[in-house]
Formats: sequence, C-alpha cells, structure tokens
Amino acid sequence: MTIEEVKKHIRDVYDFPVKGIIFKDLTTAFKNADCMKFFEDQMYDLYKDKGITKVIGIESRGFIMAPILGNKLGLGFIPIRKKGKLPAETYEVSYGKEYGVDVIQLHKDALNENDVVLIHDDLLATGGTMKAACELVRKFNVKKIYVNFLVELDFLEGAKVFDKDVDVKSLIHF
Ligand code: AMP
Repeated sequence: MTIEEVKKHIRDVYDFPVKGIIFKDLTTAFKNADCMKFFEDQMYDLYKDKGITKVIGIESRGFIMAPILGNKLGLGFIPIRKKGKLPAETYEVSYGKEYGVDVIQLHKDALNENDVVLIHDDLLATGGTMKAACELVRKFNVKKIYVNFLVELDFLEGAKVFDKDVDVKSLIHF
C-alpha cells in the first residue's frame, strides 16, 4: 500500500459534526486490512528506535492505533480521556478545538520523570487537542515527548502550535 492508495480509503464527510467542517472519516481506512497494516508498519518504523517507554492515545479515535503500536513496541497503552471518564486521581487541561471546547484528563500515576512518551491521535486539525495533551504530559516532567498523527490537515497549520522540543510527525498530509 502507498500513501496515495491509503488516501483513497479516507472518506470526506461534509458538515460533520457541524456545518462547514469536512470530516476526514478514517473508519473507511480502518476497515481495510492493508490500510491497517500500513498504519501499523509506518508507525513502528518511526518509533522503534526512539526509546519510547509509554504510548498514550487520545479519546477516542486515538484509541485505535495507539494500543496496536504499544503492543508492537512491547509496551502497554495509556488513555487520555474526556473529563469524568477516568476513575482514579487525574490531572486535567482544558482547550479549544476546531469545533467546541473540551477538558481532557490523565491518571496521576500514569507516567514518571524517566519516561519517553509517544502521544498518538488520529488527526491533527488546529492542534488544540494535542497541545493540551502535551501540557498534561509535561506535568510529569518526562524526558521527551513524541507526537504522532495518522492524518494532518496542512492548511490549518496545527503543527505550528507545538513547542520546539516536541517531535511531531504525521503519516498522511491533506
Ligand atoms: P484539533 O484539536 O483541532 O487538532 O482537532 C483534533 C481532534 O478533533 C482529533 O481528535 C480529530 O479526531 C478531531 N477532528 C478535528 N477536525 C477534524 C476533521 N476535519 N476531520 C476528522 N477529525 C477531526
């Protein structure tokens, strides 16, 4: 599979979840075994030699590839979730996104200062969600933060919101 072939499996849904948004629907790629293999292999190649110790996925579309990568790296999986979903003590950060405002949380015992962390989400739009996730992870004084997306919407210039020390990579650009 090539990037161009995978792109053909990503569906544009107009005016979802609100009018004016062209939603990049990845479910049409996830249901295809070759696309899933492409995502898994590409992500593994990017991060296999980075000394990653923790893989985090952002609710909910980040929960699909993050555990697969974690498993392949011989690691577990840690969820960043919307407010009120995680049962134990959490840190939280609020943020604005392409549509609406949200609060995300991470368990206080999820990470430690020796960790090299990869945070994954399906798509980079304005970058608000992932920037908030980085802020959450920084509360643990981790050694290094890597950020990964399957898809980046280049015209929104979301990659520019991250601090210079954060390594940001996307597999597919629109
Ligand atoms: P942002 O914080 O603006 O970068 O938005 C990223 C989050 O919102 C990701 O979790 C995406 O799943 C979702 N999202 C935002 N815009 C879109 C879009 N146009 N197509 C698909 N997902 C989107």
